[in-house]
Amino acid sequence: MGKRTVSFQGVSLVLTLSQIVQARARIASRVLRTPLESSSTIGRLCGNEVYLKAENLQKTGAFKFRGALNALLSLAAEEGERGVVTASSGNHGQAVACAAGLLGYRAVVVVPVDASEAKVDAIRGYGAEVVACGTTSTERLDKAADLVRRDGMTFVHPYDDERVMAGQGTIGLEIVDILPDVDAVLVPIGGGGLISGVATALKEIRPSIAVYGVEPKQSNSMALSLRAGKRTALEGIETLADGLRTTMPGEKTFDVVRRLVDDVLLVEEEAIVEAMVLLLERAKVLVEPSGAVSVAALLSGLFPLKGKKIVAVLSGGNVALGRLAEILASADRKRP
Ligand SMILES: *Cc1c(COP(=O)(O)O)cnc(C)c1O
Repeated sequence: MGKRTVSFQGVSLVLTLSQIVQARARIASRVLRTPLESSSTIGRLCGNEVYLKAENLQKTGAFKFRGALNALLSLAAEEGERGVVTASSGNHGQAVACAAGLLGYRAVVVVPVDASEAKVDAIRGYGAEVVACGTTSTERLDKAADLVRRDGMTFVHPYDDERVMAGQGTIGLEIVDILPDVDAVLVPIGGGGLISGVATALKEIRPSIAVYGVEPKQSNSMALSLRAGKRTALEGIETLADGLRTTMPGEKTFDVVRRLVDDVLLVEEEAIVEAMVLLLERAKVLVEPSGAVSVAALLSGLFPLKGKKIVAVLSGGNVALGRLAEILASADRKRP
């Protein structure tokens, strides 16, 4: 695929609004237009009019289905027939498995040998093959590269791919469809695919919409990279938010984020737990730790604006019930 460059406000972009509009047309019949609901409780707590974009209710339980489906629908028929491979056991692995199942393509998901049975079962349940390999992401990526070389399969990156980023960006289109006068949007950041897509859509539609990224303080590779002016790798990562444990931003995603994102807010682990509990108790919404960081930023007083119309993206809802019970118990112990 040739690298097209389109310019916006004088700079060339790796991703454009038109790619996101095309992605929406491609995936519309198979993805859910998830609800955008107001939350007066969270609004009151942070002094804004707050809306929650419920991607925890998306098919497969997270927004990743949008990007995976757009990537698979963008393949030529002969590429699709050779199958797709990815190296993520989390939400992206499930999304690729599900999208491939819908299209009748073979999918291989390379997982670590210690992947939880629940995740492996979910991936197999969508009809994908699971290959267990090593414990590090390097070992898994090597294995995936083997399948690409040997069987001619197509690798689907979890974030650093325009087709994936464009699929995630369709969330931005849905937000402005319903709330054309939105002032700001908060988006969780792992590798940066979600925020790249959302920021591209919003800023090209209306540059005055503020886009804030949110990372756990203990997994802050995007914030560090922005500060350093270049992609910077983290060493140990310890956060409850397993979907945000990314060592380093992508090349493409970093390029988009540095140009379009207004700021990245860093949340503490306790704030993530507090946000999950509040969302469950008050909004009756089950969100996984990674999906709760946007609300965590609002509750921690990190968000700089007041009196504005803002959207917090709840990016996913996949949390094993045993894990959820542990998280709720840890929150309970901290209550007065
Ligand atoms: C993958 C994921 C993220 C982060 O998305 P990136 O595109 O990697 O930045 C956030 N929340 C959930 C639930 C995820 O699965």
